[in-house]
Amino acid sequence: MQIKQEMGNTRNEKKDCMKMRIGGEWADPAGGASIEVTNPATGEHIDRVPSGDHRDVDAAVAAAESAFPSWAYRSYGERGMILGSCARLLRERIPALAPLLTGEHGKPLVEATGELMGLAHVLEYYHSISGTVHGEYRNLRLYGNAIVTHTPLGVVGAIIPWNMPGLLMGWKVGPALLAGNTMVLKPASSTPLTNLSIAALFEEAGLPPGVLNIVTGSGKEVGEPLVLHPAVRKVSFTGQVETGKRIAELAARGFTRTTLELGGCDPMIVCDDADIGEAVEGAVRGRFYNCGQVCTAVKRLYVFEDVAERFQKLLAARLAGLQVGNGMDPGVDMGPLNNAEQHRTITALIEGVREGGEGTIVTGGAVPQGERFIRGNFYAPTLITDVAADSPLLREEVFGPVLPMVVVEGLDDALAQANASRYGLGASVWTHDMRRITSACEQLQAGIVWVNQHLRIPPEVPFGGVKESGIGRENGYGSIDDYSNLKSILIAPGKGRP
Ligand code: NAD
Repeated sequence: MQIKQEMGNTRNEKKDCMKMRIGGEWADPAGGASIEVTNPATGEHIDRVPSGDHRDVDAAVAAAESAFPSWAYRSYGERGMILGSCARLLRERIPALAPLLTGEHGKPLVEATGELMGLAHVLEYYHSISGTVHGEYRNLRLYGNAIVTHTPLGVVGAIIPWNMPGLLMGWKVGPALLAGNTMVLKPASSTPLTNLSIAALFEEAGLPPGVLNIVTGSGKEVGEPLVLHPAVRKVSFTGQVETGKRIAELAARGFTRTTLELGGCDPMIVCDDADIGEAVEGAVRGRFYNCGQVCTAVKRLYVFEDVAERFQKLLAARLAGLQVGNGMDPGVDMGPLNNAEQHRTITALIEGVREGGEGTIVTGGAVPQGERFIRGNFYAPTLITDVAADSPLLREEVFGPVLPMVVVEGLDDALAQANASRYGLGASVWTHDMRRITSACEQLQAGIVWVNQHLRIPPEVPFGGVKESGIGRENGYGSIDDYSNLKSILIAPGKGRP
């Protein structure tokens, strides 16, 4: 396969199965089982990866433990330089890596390219702040001289989902490694190839062996042993709420720190003074980018009644024009869902809406017509109006290209409905009225609020959820604290005055 040749030495030598990355080597699993990786646009086999277990987790943690002392001893500047080199090499290799990501995930090539550029940007951000990480000194007079230092935690675990494997890897690897930790990362089973290739690429760029290890396998066989491993000091998890609850329970047994980045059911509020054209584009990108499989995708649309009819007409026309297809084909706007289970879930959900009369399907609501859609996990961009208030479309996170639109009387009504959710990840308001902007920013129960945009998450600012959308934050300067132990040192005051 062409991609395998282009990846050069970022790929293991054995051609029939990609291996795990442990201690800077392509490692065979302790057991013999493997996981097949398929192309969601064609159903074709792409590769296989080992289905690891607790023995592989033990080996990876041991490799991370032995790499830890010398990595932790380096200065922030030295570690940051290496992250910068990783970003540079990554940018050079994006043309080879992006097709691999599209192949295993399904997203259009332009989105895969953008995601990997986003990963490079994350690493560049951590490189850029590496010279500024410092402790604190305060003369507290009677209490003495106080010094606060950061020390790394040790080995940290990372568990990531399949929707943005490249970017989410960066959100965890960047701050963890800059803070001096070493890491064992478990990718999702349907998208492990990009993560494995990037880990090897980092080592090519100068990351010492064992600093970043990848163990592939299921949540039960690899994820749980990683969370329970006594040498793992922190676990950063991104995924579904229910999995996050399980991880929180397991981590509590060993007092292991956690950051939990969980699901979202983001509202987007369109006021009557909004630029309707821009808001329609925002809804299209906010919901249908990555085939709707984004934690902060627009999952509920609340539109003021005065502009609802016009908004709906424009939105439906845009959706009808979206090109659905194989992400490798030029001009494709939206690829397939990542996996068959996801396709079954979306199909069943829409059937339920149809049968239960829970809403009016304005456009989509089925697999697109045509031969080329038969074998992949394709689903048409779907807009649903007149949605019943208790419909799962509004209550639960729908991880696919389905957008429910609700007409609201005004801002108070919109804010009340937006906040009536167990989730609280992101939210956006579209208006140019300063009082409305202020009210919405103050009242929306979310970790991130956008004004006249939705979806963008730069590494410079903290990101995370409230309510059941998670605990803790990723990104931003504070993430260095989250991957560090803060140690306070108090030196007794000298005798007498200067
Ligand atoms: P998931 O929870 O099913 O799986 C995520 C990861 O956890 C996978 O690697 C999986 O193998 C692993 N896992 C599963 N069970 C486990 C267990 N018992 N112990 C340890 N690990 C286990 O999530 P998914 O379906 O892959 O991803 C989609 C979800 O991720 C959505 O809910 C989405 O909103 C969320 N997400 C959140 C953010 C965020 O930053 N808040 C970002 C992206 C995705």
